[in-house]
Amino acid sequence: MKQKIAKVAVPGPFLFPLDYLLPEVCVDAQAGMRVWVPFRNKKIVGLLMDVGEQSDYDDSKTKSVLEVIDDEAILTADSLKLLQWASHYYHEPIGEVVQAALPKRLRAGEAAQIEGVTYWQLSELGQQKSLDDIAKNALRQRELFSALQVHGKLNENQLNHRLQNWRAAAKTLAQKNWLESYPGPCLLESDYAAKPEHTLNEQQQAAVDAVVQSQIDNPSKQAGNMALVAQNYAPRFSAFLLQGITGSGKTEVYLGMIDAMVKLGKQVLVLVPEIGLTPQMIQRFEAYLQTRVAALHSGLNESERHCAWHMVRTNQVKVLLGTRSAVFAPFADLGLCIIDEEHDLSYKQQDGFRYSARDLMIQRARQQNIPVVLGSATPSLESLYNAKMQRYQHLYLTQRAAQGAKLPQLKLLDIRGESIQEGVSQSLKLTMQKHLAAGNQVLLFLNRRGFSPVLMCHECGWQASCPSCDANMTYHQTDALNDLGYLQCHHCDEQIVKPSLCPSCQSEEFVKVGQGTERLQETIESWFSDKRVLRIDRDTTRLKGSISELTEQAKSGQADILIGTQMLAKGHDFPNVTLVGLVDIDQGLFSADYRAAERMAQLVLQVAGRAGRGAKAGEVLIQTHHPDHPLLTSLVQHGYDRFAVKALAEREQACLPPYQYQVLFRAEAHNPDDAMHFLYSLKAGLENTAQQLDRGDDVEFWGPVSAPMLKRQGRFRFQLMLQATNRGALHRMLNVMQPHILKSPLARKVRWSIDVDPQEM
Ligand code: ADP
Ligand code: ZN
Ligand code: ZN
Repeated sequence: MKQKIAKVAVPGPFLFPLDYLLPEVCVDAQAGMRVWVPFRNKKIVGLLMDVGEQSDYDDSKTKSVLEVIDDEAILTADSLKLLQWASHYYHEPIGEVVQAALPKRLRAGEAAQIEGVTYWQLSELGQQKSLDDIAKNALRQRELFSALQVHGKLNENQLNHRLQNWRAAAKTLAQKNWLESYPGPCLLESDYAAKPEHTLNEQQQAAVDAVVQSQIDNPSKQAGNMALVAQNYAPRFSAFLLQGITGSGKTEVYLGMIDAMVKLGKQVLVLVPEIGLTPQMIQRFEAYLQTRVAALHSGLNESERHCAWHMVRTNQVKVLLGTRSAVFAPFADLGLCIIDEEHDLSYKQQDGFRYSARDLMIQRARQQNIPVVLGSATPSLESLYNAKMQRYQHLYLTQRAAQGAKLPQLKLLDIRGESIQEGVSQSLKLTMQKHLAAGNQVLLFLNRRGFSPVLMCHECGWQASCPSCDANMTYHQTDALNDLGYLQCHHCDEQIVKPSLCPSCQSEEFVKVGQGTERLQETIESWFSDKRVLRIDRDTTRLKGSISELTEQAKSGQADILIGTQMLAKGHDFPNVTLVGLVDIDQGLFSADYRAAERMAQLVLQVAGRAGRGAKAGEVLIQTHHPDHPLLTSLVQHGYDRFAVKALAEREQACLPPYQYQVLFRAEAHNPDDAMHFLYSLKAGLENTAQQLDRGDDVEFWGPVSAPMLKRQGRFRFQLMLQATNRGALHRMLNVMQPHILKSPLARKVRWSIDVDPQEM
């Protein structure tokens, strides 16, 4: 019998799986199992993508698979198909795609099955004790004891997450019979809160029905009748764009359709933006659905990630809430995909394997013949375009859902020539006073953290700039009284103490130019000394979990004034905020990046959407030096739809996406010539290929040119843009060229990448 060939995805610059011989003892191996294979004198983990009869290579040089790790496939055929599609579409080596899809433990070859973990709880004796019964200096024991008092029971993964060195403490307390342990599932078992009784309003119900009915034959008006739905269930691909204004209750709509799917026994994947996933959100889902919801995001430790993955794969949990990489999670029986805030930039991976989780999710739904729902108050222009082309069914929610809540009025504050103190105009200050006096909360938005973006010498004009980047260093203040602080580069994170003398003229006098959130906080605190100010930005939320703690504080009224960056803009429900002030949005109006206006509009409306979510009416003030800017005025006067129509028309005229397809090559090197040479030779090769394919005119080239920030982290950066009206032409050309690029000696001197459908320049 001829020996079988294993096609194995291994990390490295290989576009396709590598061939290995499959020894007799491994004949049961199937696609989707992991294998140990020899690779450059090492033993590594690879993923078996396929088993074939024939190798394209010389058999005598082909090495053998050493061992099969799994006794069942850990990825289904559906998942493998998605990975292959992703590798092809993004021109990313298959092994790198697999790396992005698997939890670290599995990449390292650990067992896929999880047998269960140990749970800890207070024993009957322990419940009779109090914290005072434990010695004051037994810190770990006290921490553990109170955590178990609060949570009832916790498993070891969660204890690892919350506490340090708890095991010794657990042993001591268990020896005293205060604690007991037992084995349980890796995902915490706990009770759900009571199911909230909301009746969906007409628009919400219509949206749920549209999605559910798309999945049944003979759709009747009986979408709510689960017995009928189950009888006629016939899954198929269909895509929906759910455009609902902020506060219109999109989450409730998601829950309605998830509920229907779960009742059909199906699993559901919900993608949320990077910082949108909070414990409160998971609790809300669990309460509504009365079923276990798993989460998958970057804040989890490896055991927790592996656990969520395992629970979904073995169909022990029906609903997964996750950020970007959850798009690869291995569902046993997926029935519905949802992408919340589909316009959010965090769905696009910006380094390494540069995929868009939104686009992959749509592809996944297509491959698996299931529905996909994209939700947003401010959909991306791409998605609006797709809806216009009738690729997506467009669903609308035009009213705020909560009793009495209304969309706030947006108003531009013309600050030209106005008296401005520390970035805040007199009118904004007066309006703040009015809202605070009425006992309401105020939110100020400034998308720049730190004290001031520039530190300058008052004598000679020297500015603190980053030694490794073409950028100023941001001044962060640590001690206002003694004028102490440090400088940080927000591009490479380099930090230095603030110099006491100007390095150029030895002067002692510096001026801090411009506003960051720290400075705004200082100003606001001095004006409103009897009010409590809470700042939410990357500096105040650096610790794990602290973002949800801070937003909870904000919600529960422990602060009167909230100051924050875009972290504060997304998704949060602050019912007592009645005034939102946007301190400075002007830089979004005149950026070199053609997407800046779209981003600005989305951010403005998302931030504005924090106002008036409760029963009290809201007001939004936008400070600007450009009150006549056409995009800004159309946004403020006519809302997002009119803005989007205008912006799309501009894109069409300028021949930009979504009317064209783009691929961006980036290259960076310590020596700028290396990066330029690489891109020039690449361009020559691509033009040549285009000629050969007889598609010379289909693809346009822009560049090579320097990146918007030429130098970053000590490297000089350049880019080459390819653009075409026909996606196929672009991809054919890359398919021919890519093997040459991977082998090119010039490529070895630079760091380079391909970015398909780039989102940032
Ligand atoms: P969105 O995500 O669209 O901005 P949310 O889903 O956060 O909006 O809902 C906004 C508020 O409206 C929440 O407090 C939610 O509980 C409430 N809500 C949603 N649907 C209803 C409904 N049908 N009846 C009453 N309140 C609702
Ligand atoms: Zn100086
Ligand atoms: Zn830097």
